[in-house]
Order: sequence, then structure tokens, then C-alpha cells
Amino acid sequence: MKNIFKSESVGQFRKMLEDSDKIVLTAHMRPDGDALGSTLGLWHLLKALGKSPSVVIPDRPPRSLSFMPGVKEIAVFTRHDPYCSRLVGEADLIIMCDFNTASRQGDLAPLIQGAQCRKVLIDHHREPDIDCDLVFSYPEMSSTCELVFRLIAACGLFSEVDNASATCLLTGLITDTQNFTVNCNNPEVYEIMMRLLEKEVDKKKIIDEAIKSCSYDSLRLNSFAILERLEIFERHRCALITLSKEDLEKFSYQKGDTEGLVNQPLNIRGVVYSVFLREDSDCIKVSSRSKHDFPVCDICRDLYGGGGHIMAAGGEFYGTLEECRRILIESMDNYDRYLPAKLEKLELK
Ligand code: 5GP
Ligand code: MN
Repeated sequence: MKNIFKSESVGQFRKMLEDSDKIVLTAHMRPDGDALGSTLGLWHLLKALGKSPSVVIPDRPPRSLSFMPGVKEIAVFTRHDPYCSRLVGEADLIIMCDFNTASRQGDLAPLIQGAQCRKVLIDHHREPDIDCDLVFSYPEMSSTCELVFRLIAACGLFSEVDNASATCLLTGLITDTQNFTVNCNNPEVYEIMMRLLEKEVDKKKIIDEAIKSCSYDSLRLNSFAILERLEIFERHRCALITLSKEDLEKFSYQKGDTEGLVNQPLNIRGVVYSVFLREDSDCIKVSSRSKHDFPVCDICRDLYGGGGHIMAAGGEFYGTLEECRRILIESMDNYDRYLPAKLEKLELK
């Protein structure tokens, strides 16, 4: 496997680990498999190295990830603010995983950013904008878990990775690549999977739990969204799903229930990008995916102050669902220039 790191950065990272004991690992709001996989993967490794690590995150993990080893030990800021504040206050190192800007941590951001200890960022989003002592930013990685694996290997610590750590890392690799369907053209991704499987990880269990498990209500909500709330903007090759608070309540929505929904319209031949707007209690959550390098991150940045990857991005909108939808529809013309020159026929029938 190619070494992607500068040797002095790896040396610095190793030294930081050696010099620290209380290490806080943290990730972004609405944590996904990669956010939890990278932090928990490192948490298990650091425990094996005799350190006193903790994982501190802004809000609760979704039910689909409750199988991940160590998830019950996570300190969740919305639930245990004083405990999280104490852990961060006492930390001698903070490792931030899977986000590139402080606002992705919501109300936890001031605590993490205000901490006086040393900080490291390990992330695969473009253009990181966080003040830290050491940055590992590699947007070409499939996932932060891939990057964490490479860093562990570069530090010569792979032998310390146990089954629990490997399970967490493989979870992030599987979820961020949508079970090896996107962002996984690099053959080394499969070498990393192989190395993790050698730790006797139960891959089927990860897929069954993280991808293939949902409630009856959630299946109905997703079916309803496709049947009743999907619009196709033919000229722009855009699919848009809009779910209101009432829609969500009708199907007893729980966090994580619409995970993966935004990908579904991309299955329609000829659709280039898909946007999903969900009316959450605090904001409208925007989620988008695309094909052919169509930059949905620009749409999320320009219209909703968000960002992400070229073909998977998100943002938040503070206003009504209708406004959020209207802004997108009115702006679609501006992004037509990014559509591929040779378009497939849109198959609506
Ligand atoms: P998802 O659609 O799964 O919520 O997010 C897809 C990707 O978009 C994430 O990996 C992250 O990079 C980015 N993203 C999602 N929500 C936000 C947001 O509110 N702000 C920013 N800057 N990026 C986001
Ligand atoms: Mn990620």
C-alpha cells in the first residue's frame, strides 16, 4: 500500500500519542458510520495502548449504529453536558474526525474549539477550516476510516488493532462507500478491507445492522417519500424529495429513518442529482447526492451554507420548508452548466 503521509507528520502524531493519556476523540453532529467508526476505531486502539481515551460527540448516534462496539461508552453532549465538559477540560489531546469546519459540531463546537490542549484533525472533506496543531486532510479518501487505517498502519500500530477497532473502521468504510458502490475505485480500499477482515470482523453483521435494518414505519416513510414527495425537474436532471414535519410524524419518524433515501432517485436513468429536504425540529436538513462529478457541494454551499464532497453534500436551512424548496428550484438554472455534455435519456416511463 502506498504511503500517503509526510514522514514528519506521522512522527509528530506518534509523539503526540506517546505524550498524551487523556485523549478525546470527537466527530460531527448527526454522526454516521464514518464519524463513529473513525472515533471508536481509534478509541479501541488507544485503550489497547494503555491510554485513557473518550469519545465525545454532539448528539446521539442513530439506532442503526447501536451495534458498534463501544457505542454505549460514548459521551453525548446533548445528554451529558457536564460530563463532556469535564472530559474535554481534562484532555491533553483532542482528535477531531470526519469534519472540516467547527460548525459541524453544533453546540459542542465552542467547547472543543475553546479547549487549550493540542488538537489533531483527521478528515476527508475538502478545504478544512479548523485551527489545529496537526492536520491530516485527504479528500481523495473514501472515508475517514480509510484514512485512520492508513495512519494507524503508518505509525506501525496495526498489530494493536483488535476485532472491535477493526469492526468500527470497516463500518465507516462500508457506510461511506454505500457498501462499496461509490468512491471506491482505488484498489487499495479492498486491501484495507482485507486487512480488517483478517481481524475476524463480521462483515455480514455490519451490513445487516448498518444498512439492511429498518423499522416497518421507516420502510413505509421511505416508500411514501418516493411515491408522494418526489419531484423530477426534467430539464435540470434533478430529483427533489421534500418531507415535512407532518409527513415525518405520520410515520413516527426516528433519527436515521431516512438514511439512504437521497440515493434512491439516482437509480432513475438520466437523473444527475438528487436533493432531499427534511423538516427537522431545529432546521431544514439538506442532503444531496450526484453522479458524473456534478458538484452538489456547490449547491449546498451557495444556497444553504453547507458543503461536503463533490457528489455527496449537505447543509442546513433556517426558514420554512417551502422557502428552502423554492430557493433550490429558482437556482437550478445556475447549475445546468455542470450537467454532462452528453446526457443519457431520462427514463420516466
Ligand atoms: P449526508 O447527506 O449524509 O447528511 O451528508 C453527506 C455529506 O455532506 C457529509 O459527509 C458531509 O460531508 C456533508 N454535510 C452534510 N451536512 C452538512 C452540513 O450541514 N454542513 C457541511 N459543511 N457539510 C455537510
Ligand atoms: Mn465521512
